[in-house]
Amino acid sequence: MEIINRRQRMGSVARKIRRDQDRTIGLVPTMGALHEGHLSLVREARRMCDVVVVSVFVNPTQFGPSEDYEHYPRDLTKDTALLTDYNVDYIFAPAAEEIYPKDFCTYVNVGGLSKPLEGATRPGHFRGVATVVAILLNTVRPDFAFFGQKDAQQAVVIKRMVRDLAFETEIVVLPTVREDSGLAISSRNLYLNAEEQESAAVIHRGLKQAKELYKKGERHAAKIEEIVRTTIESEPRARVDYVSVVDAESLERLEKLDERPLLIAVAAYVGKTRLIDNVLLNKVKKDAPASKG
Ligand code: AMP
Repeated sequence: MEIINRRQRMGSVARKIRRDQDRTIGLVPTMGALHEGHLSLVREARRMCDVVVVSVFVNPTQFGPSEDYEHYPRDLTKDTALLTDYNVDYIFAPAAEEIYPKDFCTYVNVGGLSKPLEGATRPGHFRGVATVVAILLNTVRPDFAFFGQKDAQQAVVIKRMVRDLAFETEIVVLPTVREDSGLAISSRNLYLNAEEQESAAVIHRGLKQAKELYKKGERHAAKIEEIVRTTIESEPRARVDYVSVVDAESLERLEKLDERPLLIAVAAYVGKTRLIDNVLLNKVKKDAPASKG
């Protein structure tokens, strides 16, 4: 395994793999502080691709001025040890100036999809995400790039960017990995103390109840949002930022629900830590392989 810090070196290594060796490349973009969620993406990348690149980059442009950029957990030594065990070929870990030189001025804005949900509380967040992912995709030119359903809106934004700007990478979105309690694993869970960790499991309980309600026939978004909100806020340490039932592709909020793919997205504070989670309803099933004869 090689750790690459320079964008130019990453680009030339990837070019050589594609040209001389004709092998497929999988990219797993991360901000480090790796956990089981990230590792599930790495495992799938390893299974699907000949060469696996994991990027570790705490991207300054996706953090708001009062957010946790400075304090975000960083431990490249530990991340490197983990990725060695997973047989990763390259870690791309550039410094911020390597990605954003002094006179950097080009940003990618994925229109309306960046505005609701996380975008409403975190203006500029998805501009930062889309911009850095565009740079990573252009540097590595992977055949596949792997993202987690945990960050549902991010996955939708990236898929749309890739389609609209004709990137040649296929985006693979993998299920949310959870603790036994149901809490979605996240690098920010490190901010939670033991009691808060326990309390935070209420978020997933709220989402599961919403799913049940929908299965039983409830089709009013407001009713479903209310059950998630009251369940979460029954926990004194938790406070909901938003709960919203939206079209899983356009992210438009719906009043009356139907049978299309739907996303129930939540952001909630547990103590001072802001966590996000979601569930999908009416997931699009992958096409079954064509049967012969
Ligand atoms: P991050 O380092 O938080 O930017 O996450 C890097 C990638 O890992 C993103 O595509 C996330 O959606 C994904 N990810 C983070 N947590 C999880 C999780 N619990 N399950 C699945 N994927 C995850």
